[in-house]
Formats: sequence, structure tokens, C-alpha cells
Amino acid sequence: MANSFEEVISQIKDRLDIVDVVSQYVVLKKSGANYWGICPFHNDKKPSMSVSPSRGIFKCFSCGAGGDALSFLVKIQNREYKDVILELAEKYGIELPTKYHASADTKNQKKDMIKACRKAAMFYHSQLRSADDANKAMTALRKRDVTDEVIDKFTLGWAPNKYDTLYKELKKEFKDDILEKAGLILKSNQGGWIDRFRNRIIIPIQNENGEYVAFGARAVDEGQNPKYLNSSDSLIYNKSKLLFGLCTAQESIKANDGVVIMEGYFDVISAQAHGVENAVASCGTALTAEHVKLLSRYTKSRRIFLSFDTDNAGVNATKKGSAVIKETLATLGDVKQFDESHISTASDNKYACEIRVVSPPQGKDPDEFIRTMGGEMFKEYINNAPLLIDFLLNNILKDKNSAKTPQEKAELVERSIEILKDVNNKIIQSEYVKMVSGVLNIDENAMLKELTKRERLGDNEVKISYKQKVVTNSSQFEVKAQKNLLSVFLASDNTLSYQKLNELLPENIIQDEKLIIVKNTIDKLACTINNVKELTKNLYTEFIEDDNLTQILTDIVELSEAFNGLEPDEFERAVKENVVRLKRCYQEKEAEKLRQQYQQVNDDEIEALKIQMQLRDKIKLRTGDK
Ligand code: ATP
Ligand code: MN
Repeated sequence: MANSFEEVISQIKDRLDIVDVVSQYVVLKKSGANYWGICPFHNDKKPSMSVSPSRGIFKCFSCGAGGDALSFLVKIQNREYKDVILELAEKYGIELPTKYHASADTKNQKKDMIKACRKAAMFYHSQLRSADDANKAMTALRKRDVTDEVIDKFTLGWAPNKYDTLYKELKKEFKDDILEKAGLILKSNQGGWIDRFRNRIIIPIQNENGEYVAFGARAVDEGQNPKYLNSSDSLIYNKSKLLFGLCTAQESIKANDGVVIMEGYFDVISAQAHGVENAVASCGTALTAEHVKLLSRYTKSRRIFLSFDTDNAGVNATKKGSAVIKETLATLGDVKQFDESHISTASDNKYACEIRVVSPPQGKDPDEFIRTMGGEMFKEYINNAPLLIDFLLNNILKDKNSAKTPQEKAELVERSIEILKDVNNKIIQSEYVKMVSGVLNIDENAMLKELTKRERLGDNEVKISYKQKVVTNSSQFEVKAQKNLLSVFLASDNTLSYQKLNELLPENIIQDEKLIIVKNTIDKLACTINNVKELTKNLYTEFIEDDNLTQILTDIVELSEAFNGLEPDEFERAVKENVVRLKRCYQEKEAEKLRQQYQQVNDDEIEALKIQMQLRDKIKLRTGDK
């Protein structure tokens, strides 16, 4: 009998020990009942993160990150929670629901396809040194300064200019169907099978685990099209989730806490061969959100160097790539804008991602540059790489000499403003304005005015959303008081029943949007669980997709400690006190709203009188409450 997905999660949670899990990433020190460590989710200077083995939770008192053991893993690996769960289920041998069963068929197929690709890579590799027509490939590689060592490191190969060299070799061991699915052979017009790659230098593509899953193939003859022929996606290969070179680059990306993204296979091959080991490239596609997420598992500060071709196409790829990076990391909810945040090394840059552009002047692409100038020189350029914002501005201002008329200058200012309007820090922004207006020799104040005009255009949207926030979100104190009230449901040695607790809370006492969700979920779960521990565990499971709710839940679990060790009557009194304080707070807010309305309708006497009466009622009600 297969488990439900919830059961799988539950069984996984039973095996995860919060101290073990966190210890894999953070050095923990015991102090009292809890453990403390440097928080991995922000730029922590002193140990701000506590781990409570009894409650099974972690919480950072500086950045607010928090959750249970499973949410820690999902957060730190920055992966889809489903993937993490499937992997843990496999690790612990927990049976998955039927719909998650990769059928035995698919599993075997994948295994065979990977085996076939490996065989193919090895075969092509040997052909490079043995085939009759391999000479031209070798010559082409030598022209690019590719050494024997590099040929071996990347298993570079040669697909001879015949129809079935590979097929003849692999059909002894693999079914046609597997070879076709792996993208190695094609149906010919005559109905037989032919090799997909012919007369090409072969660049095998390995996944993170070093398994061969696909191929890039470079033309060698003049006029041979296309220049690159790439494997299509398959059961074992998804190009939007895989980066060429990552298998060999991962250690270096971690060690440098940064990654260099390039455009082509040979850029990466040259880079890694010349000591720039943290270089990767996407395989014949644009950078995707999945690529960015994948990389942020390896570079903790999300330091990304874009090193594309130096032509216009490369600049456009830089713009597009950085847009994808910013967008992807922004949806994680906790990443600051790219612009000013990493200039300071202060601890307030906790979630910044850093985008820099490596664009050396000589050579059309990193491959060419590294081969002529060497890896050390390229590293020098990495170390001095400008921020994205500086790169983009310089790219605009390089046309300054051809801009002579007011209109031409205004055009460049316009393009600069487009970039500067997103810089939040006004000091930094004004410094850039000074710089740009100086370079273009225009009036600084005029440019500032244009910028403000532009910002105000965008500002209206911000203002509207802020207003909505004020209506739905309560004040800090109110939120805390409401969390306090919800925490009574999670107090671990509480002796009052769920029903009794519910009676203690008046209707509508929970008003915060998010906390209403928490309360509703508690209500939903309350009838199916036996104790607080189970309730907490299941709440975390319910919120597993929502980092924000997980964090709020952790605050509540934390606050619940205050209710422990109380006698039932003390417990009840404490709850009631909280209720009274919160109610008073709501009334105060209500009265304040009326006061404001009163001021606004001053010239309409009847309306004003009405509000005055309401206000008096409120105040009476409040004194009666005491
Ligand atoms: P080379 O140095 O071999 O001329 P490159 O590495 O400089 O090539 P670019 O033309 O800059 O290649 O292209 C960068 C990447 O884009 C390539 O590595 C390849 O992944 C992909 N690519 C280029 N041309 C094609 C094509 N015709 N079809 C598919 N992918 C391509
Ligand atoms: Mn190139």
C-alpha cells in the first residue's frame, strides 16, 4: 500500500533531527537547552540563530528566518520542496505515492540512456585519435590551443563523417529505442538508423553528478551548418536546468563564493583549463530562472559574474541575463535590489545578490581573451569587474563624443535615467547623477529634475500598494499580541483543551491577514491531531511552500514558550490579559480613524456630529471595559 504524500513528509520529519540537519551547514554550540550558530541566511557576524531540539525548530533573531528541519533544508538548498522530499524519501527508503513512482520502465530507460551516452562519449573520444578523418578535428582544436590534457579533461571527441560509425558500435549493446531517445541516432529516409552527429567535434555535456547526458557538436568544415548542433531535451537532459561545466566548477564556485557565467562551450573549456575554474555556460539557450536557482545553491552570496561576448549581442545577453537573475532572486522574497546594497560591507546587505560584468577589451569573447592574455589576466579582470550598473552606464556613456546636439545628449540622459531610477539609495543615486552630468557636460540639477519626474511616475503605483498594506496589516504591537494569542494553541505543556482555548478567544480577535490563515489552519487540523507536537509538525507541512508563513509560525512556536510551566488558572488568566490588551488596541485604532474622519468632514456639520457621537460611544465603551 503506497503512502500519501503527507504521510511521506510526516515519516521524513520523524527521521530528521533539527540539530543534525543544521549541523551539516552551521557550527552549533550548546548553551542551556538550545544551540546557537551563525545564521546562514544573512551576513551574520555573531551567532544569531538558535536551534531548539525540544521544539524541533530553528530561528534567527537577527533576520527572522525560521522553521522546522525540513524547511531549513528547503531554504538552505534553495530548491523546490517536492524535489527535496523526493530525494529524502529515496534516501530513507520511504515508499512514495503511486503517482510519484517513476515507473520501473522509465527508471531503467534512464539508466540505459545514461549508459549509452557514456559509451558514446568514450567512443567519440577515442575516434578523435584514431579515425581516418580525425585530422581536421585535431587541427581545428590545436588552432584553438586545446591541449591533450584539455581533450581528456572534457572528453572531447570526434564524430567521423560517416553515416553509422556510432550506431554500429552501440547497437551491439543498446536497443535502437534507447539510442534514439538519448538523441544519438535518427531514422533515415530509407527507414534505417543513422548517427545524429557526423563530421563534428563532440563536446559531451555532463550533469552535476558527472553523468553524460547530452552533446554539443561543433562544425569543422567551412560553410557546414549549423555551427553548433546540440542534443534536444530528453528524459535525462533538460537544458534549462543544466549548466555546462558545473560538474567540474562546483567546488571552485563554493570556494570563491562566486560564479562566472559565459556564453559558449569553448569559453568555459578555456577558462577552466587556464585556472578560472568557477566558469559555466548555458548550453545553446538563454539563462533561465532554473539556472540561477541552481547556481545560488553553490554561491552563498549569489555573486554572479557575467562574461559574455563583447559585441552588441553580448551586451544584450548581459541585459537579459541580469534581468533574469534579478527577477529570479527577487521572487525568493528576501533578496535586495542589485544596485547599492553590496557596495557597503555592513551587515545590512544580508540578502543581496551581486551582479558584475567581466568584459575585457581585447578579443571577441572570453575564450579568445584567455588564450591570448592568459588565465591570470582574466582573473585580474574578474577581480576588478564593475557592478552591473556601472557597466551599463559606461556602455551608454561611451557614445558621449558623438552626442553633440541637445537632443542627442538628452537621449543619453534618458537611457541613463532608465537605469538610475531603480537605485534606492539617494546618496548613491545623486553621486551617479553628478558623474553622468559631468561626463555629458550638462546641468546636474536639470538631470536630477528629470530623474525625479520619472520616479514620481513610478511612485504612484508604490503609494497605492502601500495604502492597501496599511489597511490589511496591523501595527507591530498588534501583530505580536495576535501571535501571542495563537501561541497558546502551541504551548507544549498546556492542559486546556482546544475547545476551551477557542472559547477564550473572542470572535474577530485575529485580524492580521496572515495570522487569520494560521488560525484557520489550526482549526482545520485541530480535530485530526492528538497533541501539540503533532499540530506543530502538521502546521509546518501545511506551510511548506510559503517561507513567510513558516517564519510566522516559528515566531508563534517561540512565543508559546512563555506559556509553559503555568497552572491552568494562571494560563487562562494570561490568555485573558492578552485578549483585553489587544481589544483596547483595536478600539484605540478605531477611535483614531473616527477622529481623522471628523477632521476631514469639518465643514459638513451633521456628518461631523454623527462621528462625534460614535467617538463618544467608543470612549464610553472603553471605560466600561475596565
Ligand atoms: P566558436 O568559438 O566555436 O566559434 P563560440 O563558442 O564563440 O563558438 P558563439 O557563436 O559565441 O560560440 O555561441 C555561443 C554558444 O551558443 C555556443 O557555445 C553554442 O552553445 C551556442 N550556439 C552558437 N551557435 C549555435 C547554433 N547555430 N546552434 C545552436 N547553438 C549555437
Ligand atoms: Mn563566442
